[in-house]
Amino acid sequence: MSIDGLPPLRDVIERHGLMAKKSLGQNFLLDLNLTAKIARQAGDLTDQPVIEVGPGPGGLTRALLAQGALVTAIERDERCLAALDEIAAHYPGRLNVISGDALEQDFASLAADGKKPRIVANLPYNVGTQLLLNWLLAEPWPPFYASMTLMFQREVAERIVARPGSEAYGRLGVLAGWRTEAKIAFDVPPQAFTPPPKVTSSVVHLVPRDEPLACDAARLSRVTQAAFGQRRKMLRQSVKSLGGEALLEKVGIDGTRRAETLDVEEFVTLANASQSG
Ligand code: SAM
Repeated sequence: MSIDGLPPLRDVIERHGLMAKKSLGQNFLLDLNLTAKIARQAGDLTDQPVIEVGPGPGGLTRALLAQGALVTAIERDERCLAALDEIAAHYPGRLNVISGDALEQDFASLAADGKKPRIVANLPYNVGTQLLLNWLLAEPWPPFYASMTLMFQREVAERIVARPGSEAYGRLGVLAGWRTEAKIAFDVPPQAFTPPPKVTSSVVHLVPRDEPLACDAARLSRVTQAAFGQRRKMLRQSVKSLGGEALLEKVGIDGTRRAETLDVEEFVTLANASQSG
């Protein structure tokens, strides 16, 4: 037995035959001290709603529940459901498991009544960036969630918190910087996972800004996609389809600059002046 009275995760994995599948980005966390640390990073969870993506055998889920959260967890791998049922039975009325693909989930509807949920997840690497983009581009804003505490590969985490001029600065950094305050909370070495991934991971904590600079999310998304899609090219070339030189002149941005030199405010100005559609 472990601290929460549930069996050790290694036993759970063995009993339910949960051999990790690479195709589902499965790298499990079995160290309950580490899962507790991730849960703590999300703040005081006492009676707070939490959305977790990819609970797997339930290590992080258990940490969230032990810290008093009310958890809704979305898992695509049906093999994990029986293990998650056991956790739900141990915490009656506090864990709701949804069997399905997080990319197709309407997350805002999970937050329909009352308090805003925190999103906490050790994300599957293959869909993590897309999920973050969906949450960053959520409408209306402020969004349906109170914060996001998410595990990424270190390289992705660096892109999320990147500043202009740095190698890692790109679309993710602009969108995260525009709408949230984002920081890397701590790193997690490969050997903390079973099986260990090739690279270091990082937990990123993002808190939505109440009043980000006014801009249409879809436009900013389009402009950053175009600008960083050809990041080595001058802006007058990379944003040609959105208005090119004329657009840049209108907003007073030198067309010979490259995307990585523009700060969030300049991207917002550019997006607001760009053609819609
Ligand atoms: N939370 C567990 C932990 O920390 O040990 C597992 C994390 S593992 C990195 C990612 C989990 O996401 C796996 O359980 C995997 O089956 C699940 N998953 C992968 N793709 C998914 C998707 N599209 N929707 C929901 N869950 C998904």
